[in-house]
Amino acid sequence: MGRVEGKVAIVTGGALGIGKASCLLLAKEGAKVAVTDILDKEGQKVVKEIKNNGGMALFWHLDVSNEKEVQKVFADIHNKLGKIDVLVNNAGIAGVSKPTHEITEEEWDKVMAVNVKGVFFCTKHVIPFMKKTGDGSIINLSSIYGIVSSPDVPPYHASKGAVRIMTKTDAFLYAKDKIRVNSVHPGFIWTPMVENYAKSQGNVEEVRKMLDNLHPIGHIGEPDDIAYGIVYLASDESKFVTGSELVIDGGYTAR
Ligand code: NAP
Repeated sequence: MGRVEGKVAIVTGGALGIGKASCLLLAKEGAKVAVTDILDKEGQKVVKEIKNNGGMALFWHLDVSNEKEVQKVFADIHNKLGKIDVLVNNAGIAGVSKPTHEITEEEWDKVMAVNVKGVFFCTKHVIPFMKKTGDGSIINLSSIYGIVSSPDVPPYHASKGAVRIMTKTDAFLYAKDKIRVNSVHPGFIWTPMVENYAKSQGNVEEVRKMLDNLHPIGHIGEPDDIAYGIVYLASDESKFVTGSELVIDGGYTAR
């Protein structure tokens, strides 16, 4: 018996990185997984991998910053998979890394549209289905950057701080409906998002070493480190956990 046997889980941004690892692990632990992303080819590949491993998954194209699309896709997922138990609000972008006084309104809004409005739209449109099911678990990807500061990516920091407190508000609001809402706060994890950042800085190996050194545990994390936490929050093992922050960061925020 898997840890999330029989549950239906939606993962946004599920084609790559932490989202992909979460889709694979949720399926391995018995969930039916709705893999969603703006990257269709990569998303379909995740579904294929899950099916090859004996799991169950389907792919939907979904841009979380488009409310109409969120509403339509979630209705279709409910229709095809019968219920919705788990939502992993994972889709996110890093945005520009410039000092605050150089950031344009457009650059600010782009990050907020995906990282904040995306979480809002997906939560808004999953709640009625979870109320129907009679319980649910919503897992929001914040970051260490939603807890502590660093002198880079100001809109990203603001967006992840927003996700942290949105999580607690929704946890309070929907506790009576047995819908739990928690945030996950990864340290640096080696995913395409971070690899692309490293490439933009020039020497990938040098950047990776620099990131390794930021974590007291001595190295950057891998997507499965976060996926294990997500499976815990999705499962009934965490039935008394809501409004909490699960920090998985190799000790980054312990200093
Ligand atoms: P990633 O490697 O960039 O994967 C994210 C996926 O989401 C990509 O497939 C991306 O497509 C997709 N996506 C982007 N915009 C979208 C939208 N509007 N609608 C739906 N999907 C969209 O990112 P990751 O590193 O796995 O990060 C996953 C989550 O963890 C994010 O919320 C991130 O902020 C958070 N996080 C990551 C780290 C880390 O170190 N990696 C640390 C803390 C928190 P594109 O590739 O086309 O953008």
